[in-house]
Amino acid sequence: MFYQNLSQQDSQVYEIIKKEACRQSDEIELIASENYVSSAVLEAMATILTNKYSEGYVGKRYYGGNQIVDEIETLAIERAKKLFQAEHVNVQPLSGSPANAAVYMAFLQPGDKVLGLKLDHGGHLSHGHHINFSGQLYNFVQYGVDEKTGMIDMEKVREIALREKPKMIVAGFSAYSREIDWQAFQNIATEVGAYTFADIAHIAGLIAGKQLANPVPIFDVVSTTTHKTLRGPRGALIMCKEKYAKQVDRAVFPGMQGGPHDHITAAKAVALGEALLPEFKDYAKQVIINAKILSDELINLGYNIVSGGTDNHLFVIDLSDKNISGKEAEKVLERAGISVSRSTIPNDSSAAFNPSGLRLGVAAITTRGMKEKEMRQIAGYINRAFLNKNEEEKLLELKKEIKVLCANFPLPTNNLKY
Ligand SMILES: *Cc1c(COP(=O)(O)O)cnc(C)c1O
Repeated sequence: MFYQNLSQQDSQVYEIIKKEACRQSDEIELIASENYVSSAVLEAMATILTNKYSEGYVGKRYYGGNQIVDEIETLAIERAKKLFQAEHVNVQPLSGSPANAAVYMAFLQPGDKVLGLKLDHGGHLSHGHHINFSGQLYNFVQYGVDEKTGMIDMEKVREIALREKPKMIVAGFSAYSREIDWQAFQNIATEVGAYTFADIAHIAGLIAGKQLANPVPIFDVVSTTTHKTLRGPRGALIMCKEKYAKQVDRAVFPGMQGGPHDHITAAKAVALGEALLPEFKDYAKQVIINAKILSDELINLGYNIVSGGTDNHLFVIDLSDKNISGKEAEKVLERAGISVSRSTIPNDSSAAFNPSGLRLGVAAITTRGMKEKEMRQIAGYINRAFLNKNEEEKLLELKKEIKVLCANFPLPTNNLKY
């Protein structure tokens, strides 16, 4: 039995974890940034590597006893290089935001001008929002999506770049459903003499699975989380051209962080190993098919999708013409056993804590094995929940149906018995 020691020594913590395991198993997970790791990834995280301090890099540590840790870090680096065709990889960033902080630190001085995508148009907090360190330390100017198409207009980006002359251009997003033209970004950056930084936190798995274009061979520097579509442990990677290797490494340690989390490095290596397998391509392909079907079905049911559809794993429903806010929609779906996150829509007239959109992603449910048929079913569930938003009985009934559906698609870690 797994978790035997935990259950005996600390039943309080154990019972809470068990409840969460049931919740994850019984609910439809549509939060675009989430996924389910494999048992192998989970096991790697729960190892004695957590006991070690290894500040520094392979062969150059500030603590003794790192010969073996060097092996695991080297393996993770080699796998990431192969997967993304990267010249240099740093596998130590603890998560996406610290990775981005290190990238800015490696290339910029405080006060330097950076061009990034607006938060309410699908960007991330760490791309220059004023409440985030990025917006406070650097002089961010922002581009958005076109009002009519909901897509990034590269001519507009070029115009802003020529006018503002940023030192760095950031391409990447948390809530944008269309393919990004990496080469067009690079061309603009070359024209204005800016560094290019791609944040592929959301789509790394779809790039690794060869379904979306890879910016790594083109851009100066690329960061990604490892826990979204890439399906690894919570953490991040930074990839860059060899000529920037030293400054990037120095920014991560000692610039931003102390010791790396070696148990997480091991789990990153396992996840990267999984992403190198041919099956991972099939997974990435199915993710994109599922997202298209789910968004098409919702359109058929009368919902507006920002930009009219999706090329990746996510999309944003615009609820501004419906009698329900993003926050209310999130709550109603939660009562029915569907997890989603509310989201702003471009030029949202409502405040950020109660925006008019809902972001949906299918990376997690695709890992469970759900396919086209289930996407149609889920679109129907979402619509039913909204239609019955004030009828607790009907939402409970729906929740029961959803639990039955979920039971047919066990989580990859279901062999770990609680
Ligand atoms: C999720 C995300 C991050 C931040 O990752 P954390 O691990 O939550 O810090 C950074 N950038 C983008 C584009 C993201 O979507």
